[in-house]
Amino acid sequence: MGAREDLLREAVAMLRHAGTVYSVSPVYETQAWGLTDQPDFLNLALELHTLTPPALLLHMIHDIEKSLGRERVVHWGMRSIDIDILFYGSEIINTDTLTVPHPHMPRRRFVLIPLADIAPDYIHPVTGLSVQDMLNSCEDTQAVALWGRL
Ligand code: AMP
Repeated sequence: MGAREDLLREAVAMLRHAGTVYSVSPVYETQAWGLTDQPDFLNLALELHTLTPPALLLHMIHDIEKSLGRERVVHWGMRSIDIDILFYGSEIINTDTLTVPHPHMPRRRFVLIPLADIAPDYIHPVTGLSVQDMLNSCEDTQAVALWGRL
């Protein structure tokens, strides 16, 4: 929404408060998933080295989403920013508020494509598949186009 790349840039800047950002993927443009009568999304993946425990990291993410004006009006509807924890090292987390590795990752090209740019050999701790393996076998047909860099 709005100045999409500015929102992304701000979100990345704010995540630096949670740790050290080691790598940031290129940005991809993706047709909105779910409800499709909304503007296309920009997506990126980044690698954060952090000592912040997962639950606290999720709180920080929610604070960032809130301060960047995310409003959840409709499920999968228009939103300014959505930040997900894809992996947290090789930890497997299943709580009421957090599932890591992120359960939707293996079937979303808009997640796997930028992730494969920064971590193709990263191993999913449950399936044993690498990010590149997941991308190669992903059946999602959604168009994901290289948009540029932040
Ligand atoms: P989302 O629609 O992707 O923003 O997700 C909404 C909720 O999913 C959040 O409030 C989290 O409590 C929950 N959630 C579960 N697993 C994760 C994860 N790996 N990363 C981010 N949010 C998660």
